[in-house]
Amino acid sequence: MGKLQLHWQILIALIAGAGAGFLLGDSVLQLEFIGTLFLKGLKMIIVPLIATSIISGVSGIGNAGNIGRLGGKTFIYYVTTSLLAILTGLVLVNLIQPGVGAQLGLQEQPEQLADSLAQFGDSPAQALKRLLLDMVPSNPFRAMADGKILQLIVFCLLFGFFITRLSEPYKGQLTDLFQGGFEAMMKLTHFIIAFAPLGIFALVAKTVATTGFSAFKDLALYAVTVFLGLSIHAFITLPLILLLVARAHPLQHARAVIPALLTAFSTSSSSATLPLTMQSLEKRAGISNRTTSFVIPLGATVNMDGTALYECVAAMFIAQAYGIELHFAQQFLVVITALLASIGAAGIPMAGLVMISVILTAVGLPLEGVGLILAVDRILDMCRTTVNVWSDSCGAGVIARSEGEEF
Ligand code: ASP
Repeated sequence: MGKLQLHWQILIALIAGAGAGFLLGDSVLQLEFIGTLFLKGLKMIIVPLIATSIISGVSGIGNAGNIGRLGGKTFIYYVTTSLLAILTGLVLVNLIQPGVGAQLGLQEQPEQLADSLAQFGDSPAQALKRLLLDMVPSNPFRAMADGKILQLIVFCLLFGFFITRLSEPYKGQLTDLFQGGFEAMMKLTHFIIAFAPLGIFALVAKTVATTGFSAFKDLALYAVTVFLGLSIHAFITLPLILLLVARAHPLQHARAVIPALLTAFSTSSSSATLPLTMQSLEKRAGISNRTTSFVIPLGATVNMDGTALYECVAAMFIAQAYGIELHFAQQFLVVITALLASIGAAGIPMAGLVMISVILTAVGLPLEGVGLILAVDRILDMCRTTVNVWSDSCGAGVIARSEGEEF
């Protein structure tokens, strides 16, 4: 009998984990260390994987013109899909109006969240400035040690580019070195991914055992609005883009990246999922390392369609719950700041929740509003992270095709 394919293994683990968490309750917490071990394994490989893949990818692209063209197309894809997601959310939240008349008590905010909110509660202009400043590392090794992914990407893009400006023998030596490093990292990634079913079983069991569902009732309409928006974006908008722009079969593409999507759902972290996203695109979808290494690490930190949509719906919901009507100009501000917030959000659990404060500050809503939606954040985080990773994967398809790749 052939070995069950990875995505089936992960899917079974996910369902079994949910069942175990539901039936066994807190006793599944004994297994928590398995999930933690898996997450640590993924985190262990993120920095060297990103570094070797970007440096080998960019040094292989060749000249500045090619890099600029690829960068421009990638940027256009990120912004277009994020804006489409936000507009989908905006239309739905105005139609459904989940916050109007909602009787909600403020939930107590964990202290850590309150601190983060205070830190991010700045104006859009300040947020943009902080984003730019945050992109450049003052010490690339510290950026690596601290897992500052955007800073690492900026450094590696520059380093990879300047390898192409060297003369021989150094150019060949360094290109080979990083290519070899990348091949080794992909093998290591493959090894860690083999444990995904076990890790995901433990992670999902813990989430189900520790999440209360009672709070869900009051926020059901809000959660449904976000969920509906995410579904429209994931099942209609992005497949259409794949079909029309990339001329790729959406189902086939989804089948190739399903291990990454299920991992995103289970971990709520685009960054932790990154090794699976890259591996799935290169080994299962057949997209080149040149494209994947350019589009995916950057996408995992910058391109978050699911988060962008959620930011918009959440901010509008909070305004509605406070009985504050936002007119057109303010809604426009919500759209722009939701885009900024999704770019600024790190690819880790709950990052999007904290970034809502950027929007609330921009339109003058109280920061405590975030407390209203805390109770259902975990499940929405799982869903929006999956959409974030799905959009990155579709982006790789679009860019690959535009570069003439057959996959
Ligand atoms: N958890 C999301 C991600 O990693 C970010 C968010 O909280 O929206 O993509």
